[in-house]
Amino acid sequence: VKEMEAGESPYVVAGSNESRWDDKLGYFIEKKLHVWCRSGDGLWESGQIQSTSGEKASVLLSDNSVVTVPIQELLPANPHILEGVDDLVQLSYLNEPSVLHNIRCRYLQDIIYTKAGPVLVAVNPFKDVEIYEHDYVTAYRQKLLDSPHAYAIADEAYDKMMAGANSHFSVTIFVNFADETNQSIIISGESGAGKTETAKIVMQYLAVIGGGSGVIESEVLQTSYILEAFGNAKTARNDNSSRFGKLIEIHFSASGQICDAKIQTFLLEKSRVVQLALGERSYHIFYQLCSGASSALRGRLRLKKASDYKYLNQSDCLEIHTIDDAQKFHTLMGALDTVRICKEDQEHVFEMLAAVLWLGNISFLVTDNQNHIEVVADEAVTNAASLIGCSEPELVLALSTRKIQAGKDEVTRRLTLQQAIDARDALAKFIYVSLFDWLIEEINSSLTTGKHNTGRSISILDFYGYEPLKKNSFQQFCVNYANERLQQHFNRHLFKLEQEEYELDGIDWTKVGFVDNVDCLNLFEKKPIGLISLLDEISNFPKATNLTLVAKLKQHLNANHCFKGERGGSFIIHHNAGEVLYDTEDFLKKNRESLHSESIQLLSLCTSRFPQYFTSTMLKQSQHPESKFMQSSMFACQKQTVATKFKVQLFELMQHLESTNPHFIRCIKPNSKQIPAVFQNDLALEQLRCNGVLEVVRISRLGYPIRMTHQEFATRYRFILPESMACQDHLSMSIAILQQFDIFPEMYQVGYTKLYFRAGQIVALEDVRKQF
Ligand code: ATP
Ligand code: MG
Repeated sequence: VKEMEAGESPYVVAGSNESRWDDKLGYFIEKKLHVWCRSGDGLWESGQIQSTSGEKASVLLSDNSVVTVPIQELLPANPHILEGVDDLVQLSYLNEPSVLHNIRCRYLQDIIYTKAGPVLVAVNPFKDVEIYEHDYVTAYRQKLLDSPHAYAIADEAYDKMMAGANSHFSVTIFVNFADETNQSIIISGESGAGKTETAKIVMQYLAVIGGGSGVIESEVLQTSYILEAFGNAKTARNDNSSRFGKLIEIHFSASGQICDAKIQTFLLEKSRVVQLALGERSYHIFYQLCSGASSALRGRLRLKKASDYKYLNQSDCLEIHTIDDAQKFHTLMGALDTVRICKEDQEHVFEMLAAVLWLGNISFLVTDNQNHIEVVADEAVTNAASLIGCSEPELVLALSTRKIQAGKDEVTRRLTLQQAIDARDALAKFIYVSLFDWLIEEINSSLTTGKHNTGRSISILDFYGYEPLKKNSFQQFCVNYANERLQQHFNRHLFKLEQEEYELDGIDWTKVGFVDNVDCLNLFEKKPIGLISLLDEISNFPKATNLTLVAKLKQHLNANHCFKGERGGSFIIHHNAGEVLYDTEDFLKKNRESLHSESIQLLSLCTSRFPQYFTSTMLKQSQHPESKFMQSSMFACQKQTVATKFKVQLFELMQHLESTNPHFIRCIKPNSKQIPAVFQNDLALEQLRCNGVLEVVRISRLGYPIRMTHQEFATRYRFILPESMACQDHLSMSIAILQQFDIFPEMYQVGYTKLYFRAGQIVALEDVRKQF
């Protein structure tokens, strides 16, 4: 393969100028340079153009076959010297196949990290790569290594935090102190892409470099075991999928040691407690408890095997072949000890878990032709009642009847089968979610030392990525909405950074537009006619169906181009990352998510510790000022809807992130089989598109990604100048070099301190330099 030859033509470069690509075809043919050629199936292959005729070109592919394709199906490939560069913006050509090729080449050599300008791309290796040992921590800390790594991001965040905190007394007009001190590391990617592992890697690094007494950092690391046991599950896409979003805020002392931490969680997937897709599991903790509990504990909990519980055995998947649930249970108990949850409370936690499992086994008998039911009196009822701490008749009554107001009188009605199943499942979900929240609170109080007001923190966000599934429900609706917000934060920040640097250095920067997703955000948030307001409004009507909802949405939202119409019980949203079809079947139910007053009453009268605590917490929370009150007697508990609660939480999150200096890590899942060494181009490309990496690359192409100080530039390329000119000041020398090289004026800018080049320019200069 022939490289782009030295000194041939400094102009034949630049991804910034691919509109002139047609003009360069001749040059590519003559020099036998490589191109990317898109075949019928949409995939890009490497080849060499042999000839062109009209709008077509014939291309020799690497397997020696020759294909004829339209010229627009060709793109320039980078010279081999640029294969596998550390930072994508170093590429001469920043087109999609080149970007993908670069990441792929690295991945296949186990180099899983690549930079895309300020963003770190991490490709999941699905195997242990030996780049996390202590030596690596030391090397990154001492700046002996500068190749892209999650450690490098953590290190940069740490340094910036310390520098920001220490610069309080210096005066500079450009720096906003509050912004510069607190840092955030925002990790995103689709399910199985490696977000949670990356977050742990970042935390490990911070725990080492910010390590002090060893107590608090070890606690912070141990929390992962608890969060994963209670919040992760095996799904079709990831054996250890986090079914919640989390923000971990780590506080540092003045001397840079971890002194305090706080965890916030978002949107735990509740339906998983009661309903599983085939081949998936419920939360790990249930299986861990069933296989790991001691016989004494089993006795007290009246515990059986996982396979005996309907909530667990419905999906034909009880084990994960690589995981030992019993051993995980012991690790979990150790972690619970570490965060100082006392043995008595641990026992209560297990009681609640067992209660949930037994609730799932409660069955109903239809007793008349109107589908009314009776609760089957078996061990499930007995055990559930005893674990919750109520009497059997109380539980039976709560699950099978409802009191309704008939004029002045209150009458008791028996429930139908579906109503009873819903009431039982709602109770189980409520207990589990309350337990999860309680655990987070306990962890937080253990991690809070009261020393967090130092003003130095690094927050790590591990949040569900944008996920277009085959069937998108209420959960995806919320997740994708959050991702629009996060994407906006990402766009704004990256553009702001770019623009600020140009402006500070006094260069002419015609503002480059970016794909703004404000219309999509408006579609969700606008009051009173955004998706969320309308959803809440309809949720207030007990008789409304999902068809009512869709009709209402269509009526009010058709004008927004991001609302792409409806189809039966579904509607389509044009998200930043693509179109998603939402099935509204359970939208209203999931948005209301109410416990029947009978269940609330039941729990509030229970003798055991947790149920009472759970209901009082819920009642406190429902008095939030933004609450939408449910008026119907069905929803005796006046409660904020799930969507609104989530929106409030999301706004708080965004506010927090806005007050920090962000670092972005984009995780990529290279294949859908969770196996090492397989890189599926189409899958990776789709993710690079969705998570904005290609957009960053596009911005770089429009801007000036290559920057060198006047001194760096002058020193490197002075060889081209006559001796007489080689002793001037760096700026004059730089300008003389640019003229000598005959670089097009639109390809660079001269700033006060640096020279700025369009993508690709330096390659040509380097080629000439090589010749000398
Ligand atoms: P979800 O959204 O479903 O929670 P995720 O993005 O958090 O997915 P992880 O659970 O972090 O994905 O990663 C999935 C699996 O990939 C891990 O269990 C681990 O086996 C593997 N993995 C991810 N990152 C790495 C890494 N850096 N080194 C080795 N293995 C990794
Ligand atoms: Mg995860």
